[in-house]
Amino acid sequence: MMIKSNITITENESETKQLGEAYAGKLKGGEILCLYGQLGSGKTTFTKGLAKGLGIESRLLSPTFIIVRHHHIQNKLFQTLYHLDLYRINNPKEALWIGLNDWLNKKENIIVIEWPEKLGEFLPKNRIDIYFKDLGDDKREIKL
Ligand code: ADP
Ligand code: MG
Repeated sequence: MMIKSNITITENESETKQLGEAYAGKLKGGEILCLYGQLGSGKTTFTKGLAKGLGIESRLLSPTFIIVRHHHIQNKLFQTLYHLDLYRINNPKEALWIGLNDWLNKKENIIVIEWPEKLGEFLPKNRIDIYFKDLGDDKREIKL
């Protein structure tokens, strides 16, 4: 793993998980994490580490086919991790129909959104943007 200010280059899947796990320790509750990057760039892998760092023990699957998964957080600070993958939505309003606005800006929730650009004008303003890039082989650049 190579860390240069806010850019980290990981060299395998488990390093990206570790990065997510460590990042979980910085969360205070109510954050909206927007993960950008092409398919296979490591967004879900990072989220798996984040979930582990939040004390979630259930296996975190990619929500690609069902758009959102909720995970109960087994620690005292937060209650629920909402993990959205908007790759398949065609209209930004679909994210609102599934309930996005009800989960946002609540201290007890952590929200992770893959393909946030699909939200268009509904992209939350108070979000944290994280960028993923596939550098070839097993290298991934993650800009926090
Ligand atoms: P996304 O959610 O961005 O589509 P995933 O996290 O689901 O991407 O998939 C990343 C893929 O790349 C996995 O198959 C993983 O094994 C592989 N991989 C190889 N190197 C890395 C790395 N350094 N970090 C994360 N994933 C990696
Ligand atoms: Mg994914």
